[in-house]
Amino acid sequence: MNRFDNVIKGMLVLETEVIRGQVGVKDGKIACIADETAVLEAERVMDCGSSYVFPGMIDTHVHCFSNPDEGFEPTSRSAAVGGITTFLDMPYDLPKPITDVAVFEEKVVRLEQQSVVDIALWATISKYNGTGQIVPLAEAGAVAFKMSTFETDPYRFPRIPDQEIMQAMRLIEQTGLRAAFHSENNEMIVELIREYQESGKVYPRAHMETRPPVTETSEVLKLMEFAYWTGVKLHIVHVSHPETVELIKLFRQRGVQVTCETCYPYLLLDVNDLERMGPRAKMNPPLREPEDVAGLWRHVNEGQIDLICSDHAPWGIEKKEIGDDNIFLSASGLPGVEILVPLLFDRAVMQGGMSPVQFAKLMSQHPAEVFGIADKGRIAVGCDADLTVIDPQGATLVDETKLRSHSKLTPFHGKQLQGRIQYTVVRGTVVYDGEDITVEPGFGRFVPGMASKRRKVESR
Ligand SMILES: [Zn+2]
Repeated sequence: MNRFDNVIKGMLVLETEVIRGQVGVKDGKIACIADETAVLEAERVMDCGSSYVFPGMIDTHVHCFSNPDEGFEPTSRSAAVGGITTFLDMPYDLPKPITDVAVFEEKVVRLEQQSVVDIALWATISKYNGTGQIVPLAEAGAVAFKMSTFETDPYRFPRIPDQEIMQAMRLIEQTGLRAAFHSENNEMIVELIREYQESGKVYPRAHMETRPPVTETSEVLKLMEFAYWTGVKLHIVHVSHPETVELIKLFRQRGVQVTCETCYPYLLLDVNDLERMGPRAKMNPPLREPEDVAGLWRHVNEGQIDLICSDHAPWGIEKKEIGDDNIFLSASGLPGVEILVPLLFDRAVMQGGMSPVQFAKLMSQHPAEVFGIADKGRIAVGCDADLTVIDPQGATLVDETKLRSHSKLTPFHGKQLQGRIQYTVVRGTVVYDGEDITVEPGFGRFVPGMASKRRKVESR
């Protein structure tokens, strides 16, 4: 009889159903899926009882190094505690954004020394004449390319001019990878912020008023038309408004390959929270009206939003509190990799009645499919044995002081949630046991993108 390294028993969340069953793991891969009556011999057996055994959850939108005080170790520990088995790290790093192969390779080395979960890496381009590195970065293993139509930072996170976007899209199309965009209208927002500041309108809600929905929808419309002419696979990050999804539906009907995500705050908070909490609830794009939140949920439930992620941005308190008297001065973004899954499991599955199968699609399967990470995202024979075990009877208290990230502030501080991350399993090994991280930094591996030369060599 086949002897497994590890057998994990529980309520398995498969692609179309939940079964009481067991997963046999061999060499870090799922080697067998059986019902509860089968006798599987193994070195170790983990009985998760009536807990859900989900495919490992994937956070596609994480910024480890926007703040150099953070880095892979705190973020990956945070991820493991939050039930995330793989994350995709954004390229807008300080001091060096990921715009060429040399910095990309350095980042791969650092990742494999410091992480406790698996990580894939985004790449980007510099503002002018940056497209020459696109094909080499794809071959080095970049998972996708991220660009912005809004100038967050002229060096680290620049606005890419239209002609440069077209050129980049043509090249990215050749690699088969996805081009993703932060889509906000730079001209309108800069002008609105100038007007507001001049007239002393610097209250928290002004952050939303200076970034009205049209600043998102107008840029998304442009990018989809660019994708129509270049044939590139497009991904719209952090959709904040339901009208954006309506436009995406139209362009899908026209044959444009466009996917989209929203982030947990847009589903769980609204502009009244920004008004109440100020900088702590400031992000780009901003929180919207309650009816817009309801609209986003409708699109999630109808399957028009492909995935939900965190947009983890690990700013310390000092970068936030400077905006207490003027919202425009504080950093934008929230930590999230540790609370994304607990918050959404509570709201969507426990309170909202979403099926565990649907939840797995949003948090595991679609993230892997959209970004071409074929070994992950499903409980299926041959896939990596990445699992997120959630006890629906357990409880989680969100305590910002205990977050593993450098960032120790969240609008969700003090929230009591139903459901608890019981185990996080990466390639068959428990990396978080419900209490502590159980592996050393360096356990985590680099996950190469689908145009990687590395991947082609390995699979030979
Ligand atoms: Zn982001």
